[in-house]
Formats: sequence, structure tokens, C-alpha cells
Amino acid sequence: MAIQALRGTTDLFGDDARRWAAVEHHVKRLCRAHGYGEIRTPVIEDAALFLRTLGETTDIVQKEMFRFEDRGGHDIVLRPEGTASVVRAYLEHNLHKTIGFAKLFYLGPMFRAERPQAGRLRQFHQYGVEAIGSYSPWIDVEVILLCLDILNACGVTETTVWLSSMGCREDQQRSAAQLRERLASQRAKLCQECQKRFDKNVFRVLDCQNPSCHGIAWGAITGSPFLLCGNCEAHFTAVRQGLGQNGVAFDDTQVFARGLDYYTQTVFEVRAKGLGAQDAVAAGGRYNHLVEDLGGPALGAVGFAAGIERILMAQGAVPAPVERPKRHGVYLAVAQPALIGRAFQQVTQLRAQGVQVLMDYDGKSLKAQLREADKAGCKFVAILGEKELEQGAITLKDLDAQSQETVAVEKFAESVGKRTGHACH
Ligand code: ATP
Ligand code: MG
Repeated sequence: MAIQALRGTTDLFGDDARRWAAVEHHVKRLCRAHGYGEIRTPVIEDAALFLRTLGETTDIVQKEMFRFEDRGGHDIVLRPEGTASVVRAYLEHNLHKTIGFAKLFYLGPMFRAERPQAGRLRQFHQYGVEAIGSYSPWIDVEVILLCLDILNACGVTETTVWLSSMGCREDQQRSAAQLRERLASQRAKLCQECQKRFDKNVFRVLDCQNPSCHGIAWGAITGSPFLLCGNCEAHFTAVRQGLGQNGVAFDDTQVFARGLDYYTQTVFEVRAKGLGAQDAVAAGGRYNHLVEDLGGPALGAVGFAAGIERILMAQGAVPAPVERPKRHGVYLAVAQPALIGRAFQQVTQLRAQGVQVLMDYDGKSLKAQLREADKAGCKFVAILGEKELEQGAITLKDLDAQSQETVAVEKFAESVGKRTGHACH
């Protein structure tokens, strides 16, 4: 049987690859414009990184990590998310000592052993930002604005922002005690796993896939959100005001908790229209203890992560025409297969000068080569034949303008370079 891609993984090519590249382009452009520099961290990490930061009772740690022992007996994980790695790198490279406040963005594959379905993959891709080293609510506002700016640039405009605050660690301990109290009478009805969660981390009962547990847990918090301390309440108010002043509509009436332990205070999710059950395109929040939990100083931080596959799906739900790229580059066709070597030399020269150039290597007919040039979206076609070499002149056809001109063979690279807008030396 033919070998196929693993379930929950995808191949990317054609129009999708072009749409993907456009998303990456907007991510890089807008992150840089907001003062975020790129960071690339490894795909594999020490398992302890995620065990320590995400929380041992979270779904990711309990069920979704691709975890293995390498030949040397090291406990390794394919990263399920980006934040923990970025904070590890921030500390490992002493950025807290050299630059202090760091604004970083990343983009790359993440891995979770989830049940594959529409919008839920085992290898998926996220971009995200992390602003490390500030407690200011303005950074929360900036991160949410940036998140929405990128989505808008990608054509994902029909979105709802869910906003909430999970409070500080003390607030969370108080809320957990309250939730335990509210759930106590129904504890016996919870599944076995939730019985454990009840003691260890009662918030995780909210994530249970079992509809009965889910219903009981959400019933216990809906309509009676957890109370925040004065400091967290003030922070949350400032974030709401900042968003309002900058024209961001949000819904702060929904009680929700994020599925990772490291969040404190602000949490948000952006949901897009038309995506069905998997409608979250981006999510994030503040994590004021993560730097400290990883052995660094006490530093506030906030970030988000967005799923690229879901963004492409959201674009598909609200059809955005794939822009046909402008014609570019040149196709050097050969009149006879014997001239392939000569053409190859020309092509190499052109490429050395930064000109995008294609040719045929298989001795195809001239007609077939011209068809290929058109299909590849080339702007120019040049035909190299014995006659051209004898006369030292070559004809350059502009497929856009439907015009042609003759240029000297030895000046060919220079002429093409000028016309394709590439620098020639
Ligand atoms: P969900 O509620 O959909 O499971 P999550 O809360 O697990 O999402 P995060 O860990 O916050 O998601 O990741 C941020 C974004 O990454 C999500 O909003 C989504 O767009 C994307 N994402 C998360 N898991 C997957 C997956 N398995 N396949 C595709 N995209 C994903
Ligand atoms: Mg999930």
C-alpha cells in the first residue's frame, strides 16, 4: 500500500502555500511594526519544561504530548506550544539581564496528540508573541490589538473577542476553593479523572470532554464569576478601557478559563465566524509567574498564539480570492535540446545576478516550453537557438505587454535584470 501522511498532518502546496506565505508575511510585517523581534526555538525540548509550566493536570500534559525517550535516555517532548520555550530561551540567554523588557514573536509547527478532526491537527502551526518584563495593562492591550491587526490583514474580520480575568494566584486559590464548595454536593457524579482533578486542580474539570462533568462544572460558575482582588480588578478595568479607547469590541460577559495553568489576570480568545466547533483562531493572556517558575526573577508577561490552519479555514469560510501573483521572472527556452548546456550557463549567470529564471532540462518542444513559461507565470520568455548564438542576439518577449525586442547575447543578463527590476552588476 502506498505510504500516506500520518493522520492529523497535512501537506501544503499550491494556492494554500501561497495563502500561507501571505499569512506569514503579515505576521512578520505587523509584529516588527509593533516592535516584536523574531525568535526561533527548537521543536524538541526537555519534557520537564512543559511538565513544570503547563500544569500536570492539563489535557496537554496528560494526553496530548508527543513524548519519547531518546537513545541517551533523555525525556523529550515535541513542543505542544510556544510560550514555555520562549521564556526558557529568554532566561537561558540572559535577556532579563541584557535587555530586560523583551518583545518577541515566533512562528512554527506545534504538536499535540489530539483526535484529528476539522480544525484539529496533530501537527499544526502557530504564530505568537510574548512581551516579557512588564505588568502594564497597556501591554495586554497592545498584544490584543496586534492579534486583531494580523487577523484583519489576513482577511479574518468577522471575529469575537472573549475577554476575562483569572486574577492572581491568590485569587485563583480562593476561586478554586469556591468552585470546590459549589461542586462538593455533586462530586460523586464526576468521572474518575475529574475526581482527581477536583483535589489537584479543580479548574481542569471545566475542560473535561465528558458532557456530564462539563455541564456540572460550567453550571457551577456560569452567572457567578470569580471575584478579583482590588489590584487585579484595577488591571482588568484598565485593559477594558484601553481596548475601548482603541476601538476594540469585546465580550467580557462569558466566563471562561484557559486550559493551561500558567495564566494569571487577563485571558482572551478570538473566535471566528463559520468555523463550527473549532472556532478559536487565537488565544492568549498574561502569565505573571512563568518566568519565576522557570528559575528567573519575578517578571510580568503577556502573549498570544494563533493557529494558521484555522486562519486559512476562516478565510475559506468567508471566501477571499487568492490573488494571482503578478507575472515575474524569465523563461529561457531552447530551440534544440543540444543547446541546453549553453542555456544552462546563461541561467546560472542570471541567477547569480538575482534574476528569477526557469528553463527546460528534458528537451521538450519549443511549444511545450512556451506553454510551461505561461503556466509558471513568467513575465519574459527568451528563445536561444543556433541563429541567436551565431548572430549574438536574442529575442526577449514580454508576456504582459505582448511586445518583444532583441538584445545582445553578452548583454542578455544585464538587460533581463533591468527589465525584471533586479540589480545587475
Ligand atoms: P482549542 O480550544 O481549540 O483546543 P486551545 O485552547 O488548545 O484551542 P491554544 O493552546 O491556546 O489552543 O492555541 C492557540 C491556537 O492554536 C488556537 O486558538 C487554535 O487556533 C490553534 N490550535 C490549538 N490546537 C490546535 C490543533 N490541534 N490543531 C490546529 N490548531 C490548533
Ligand atoms: Mg486544545
